[in-house]
Amino acid sequence: MNQLDASTITTDIAIIGSGMGGGTLAWALRNRGAKVLIVERGGYLPREPQNWSPREIFVAKRYRTTDPYLDGAGRPFRPSIYHVVGGCTKVYGAALPRFRREDFELLESEDGISPAWPVGYDELEPYYAEAERLFRVHGTAGSDPVEGARSTPFPWPAVPHEPVIAEVADSFARQGLRPFPLPLGIDLREGGTCIRCKTCDGFPCQVLAKSDAEVCVTTPALESPDVSMLTGARAVVLRTDPTGRRVTGLDIDMNGTRRTVVASTYVVAAGAINSAALLLRSASDRHPNGLANSSGLVGRNYMAHVNSALMAIRPTVNGTVFQKTLALNDWYFGESNARVGMGHAQLLGKLQAEMLQGSVPWAPKRALSEIAGRSVDWYLMTEDLPDPENRVSLDSAGRVVVMFKANNEKLHRRLVRSMATAMRRAGYPMIQTRRFGLDATAHQCGTAKFGDDPATSVLDPLCRTHDVANLFVMDASFLPSSSAQNPALTVAAQALRVGERAAFN
Ligand SMILES: Cc1cc2nc3c(=O)[nH]c(=O)nc-3n(C[C@H](O)[C@H](O)[C@H](O)COP(=O)(O)OP(=O)(O)OC[C@H]3O[C@@H](n4cnc5c(N)ncnc54)[C@H](O)[C@@H]3O)c2cc1C
Repeated sequence: MNQLDASTITTDIAIIGSGMGGGTLAWALRNRGAKVLIVERGGYLPREPQNWSPREIFVAKRYRTTDPYLDGAGRPFRPSIYHVVGGCTKVYGAALPRFRREDFELLESEDGISPAWPVGYDELEPYYAEAERLFRVHGTAGSDPVEGARSTPFPWPAVPHEPVIAEVADSFARQGLRPFPLPLGIDLREGGTCIRCKTCDGFPCQVLAKSDAEVCVTTPALESPDVSMLTGARAVVLRTDPTGRRVTGLDIDMNGTRRTVVASTYVVAAGAINSAALLLRSASDRHPNGLANSSGLVGRNYMAHVNSALMAIRPTVNGTVFQKTLALNDWYFGESNARVGMGHAQLLGKLQAEMLQGSVPWAPKRALSEIAGRSVDWYLMTEDLPDPENRVSLDSAGRVVVMFKANNEKLHRRLVRSMATAMRRAGYPMIQTRRFGLDATAHQCGTAKFGDDPATSVLDPLCRTHDVANLFVMDASFLPSSSAQNPALTVAAQALRVGERAAFN
């Protein structure tokens, strides 16, 4: 990083965002001779006792953004967005599955189409393998009934189930289902620091044993003399030359002080909502509808999965501590091998009374403790289809507006019913479910889809914008469909592919 004067910083490649996409790309570009500068809005998430306080995390929402976000009706909401080094991965559940081979192909449901990707599973496969090594993924190859072919086994063996979860897995098997160990990025290697606590999924890891982007890619990238990072640096607007074909500068706000980053290449990796917002905010005479938006698709096709939590409750206590070890894909392609299916089920981190209070603040804590002490807790996700009307935009005051109407809801309801039946059969007579709302932006994606055709996509297959030669978007925005799997490993795999294959000039 060089400084021309106090207000201008020069580099070769400026990456906006240090999360899964930005951090992994910085890692891939380290030691290549080009100077890489990460521009990160947040600071390091502090390691403090509150990291593991369910009340602080789920009721006070301690580390979430407080920016004003509006829904389609102009009502404020507080998305699960985290402006810290490592981005949303600092609090993620570290479930790191690959997408299925079929997820890259055109699929249909009664609500519409899940489009084909410009690259197939085989193209991404070696990068998935590398991402699994980088993010220390534990799993068992061949156990997931719908997984694609693998060139390598999982780098580490699956995280074992605790006894209550092993019983559930056995019951599922007796019911004819094919449960499998959830691929997880935690550090259980020899000498690894993971203590398998109950404050993993949704919490920052105080012992840095969760494979988040800060730990696995951003900090290791910074060990290279070629990579540096500005924290507390909010990207405000990207400016182009008079032709509109090249970005010439990025204005950043550092605690009220404006500075400009000048680079040869700019990579937006601010997360699907904020990357779209930055491009829209960077509208100019040459790009009146937003930078790199000749397709009109920047911000459109926002997806975040149709999600529910399902608590299956039994009369006896569930003493499980590290619960997030089991998954089911039996209904991934629907009950009749239909194309877009009902989706995926994976265990949540063990729910605790204070976590439930975030959703049902009126319920007495004692009742919540009784329930949480006896429940096995699932996260159910169904693919949502890209719909151009589901979109990120800016209002006249520059605030981010997220319009979203769910689709594939019928399929999701069938998934919920199927899981409820399986859990009742496993000895859990009481079932409670809750659909997640607009604030559940965890799996946000799709707002700058990649593709071959500039008329129907924002990015080319290596995530360069079709419209602006030296501008890339490398985060969850590129996904043209959401699949019914957690997205982070796919974001990392594509970042490794872009880092290896794209020409940065
Ligand atoms: C509670 C929770 C649980 C999750 N669990 C899982 C899971 O188990 N498995 C899984 O695969 N995925 C999970 N996810 C989703 C996963 O974290 C995301 O898919 C992934 O982080 C997306 O990567 P990204 O690069 O798009 O965004 P992020 O990783 O969020 O990175 C975006 C970065 O950009 C920065 N930024 C934003 N705006 C600006 C700006 N204007 N200027 C400078 N910097 C900016 C942010 O501060 C952030 O550091 C979860 C997410 C949440 C919130």
